[in-house]
Amino acid sequence: MLRYLILGPCAAESQSVLREAAQTVKNQALSLPKEVQVIFRAGAWKPRTKPGCFEGVGREALSWLTEIQAGYGLRVATEVATAEQTAEALDAGICVLWLGARTTTNPFLVRDIAETISSAATTRPQDLLVLVKNPVSVDLALWEGAIQRLAEVVGRANVVAVHRGFTGESAVMRNKPGWSVALQLHRRMPDIPLLLDPSHMAGDVRLVPSLVRKAVELNYDGLMLEMHPRPQEALSDVGQQLSPEELREVLSDRCLPFCSGSEGADKDAGTSLAAYRAEIDELDDELWQLVLRRAELSSAIGAYKRAHSMPVLQPDRWQQLVTRRLAWAEENGLSEETTMRILDALHEESRRRQK
Ligand code: PEP
Ligand code: MN
Repeated sequence: MLRYLILGPCAAESQSVLREAAQTVKNQALSLPKEVQVIFRAGAWKPRTKPGCFEGVGREALSWLTEIQAGYGLRVATEVATAEQTAEALDAGICVLWLGARTTTNPFLVRDIAETISSAATTRPQDLLVLVKNPVSVDLALWEGAIQRLAEVVGRANVVAVHRGFTGESAVMRNKPGWSVALQLHRRMPDIPLLLDPSHMAGDVRLVPSLVRKAVELNYDGLMLEMHPRPQEALSDVGQQLSPEELREVLSDRCLPFCSGSEGADKDAGTSLAAYRAEIDELDDELWQLVLRRAELSSAIGAYKRAHSMPVLQPDRWQQLVTRRLAWAEENGLSEETTMRILDALHEESRRRQK
């Protein structure tokens, strides 16, 4: 069930952009069941990997955001990456904070942010909500640890995980999905809502609708979507921010299961058949990539053997491979028959390439 929708531009670029975007988000919120928590997002500070990019307007944007909060009746969220930013955002009256992927990666930063939130949490804990994006690298423990650190200060009910994908090879997307990492996190922390951020995962609005469907199929608890009144003029993340019309279209899909009651986090999300299949598909993708790389190395070895007048079949080497794999298979509970069939198939491909 979709219980959270975090919508808004990548960055708080100007007061007028925020107002226009907030009007769109407000209209959108009015068309949804009231149980869906619609939160307006915009980054005051933008962590940019490389220098020279738009880094956000900083502190000045905080009052623009609180104006949106008061004027449009929307809760607002901004990214904090240091203790200082956290204190400034909380002092300004912003109650929803998110930790970006680059911040979750650093336990020192997470600790400092948690400590800063901790003093605010004693006076108004029920207002605070902290969204924790996955770290840039595939590291479940870092993500889990950041969530635990924040849950200690705001309570588990006020922390949400956001899955935005990982740095790494992906044929079409800006970030590699890594579904299995998010689903494992959800199995370990079933009470922590899991949201998908299709905008940062895909980096391309054209891929957003299919990722939204994937989130639904995998029972995610909500979405973070970037939208901009005029996406082509955006100062950051051009190409991945939906226009108001595109946002309406994505959210008007009748198949989206918006929550309309007091349901909690979907505790079965990580153990559904769709979740297990997503993990299998991801593993198969990796497995086939490895098979291909292995085959390509075999071709290179074939060229070497030809250049050095060596025979294709080297019985000693083959015997070594078999002995090593069978020992491993026995230790790990994989059958001898399966192991030999896989080895034979790999070997057959190598011989075909080396002939
Ligand atoms: C963002 O949400 O604008 C952002 C910078 O996200 P991430 O940390 O996922 O890159
Ligand atoms: Mn962005």
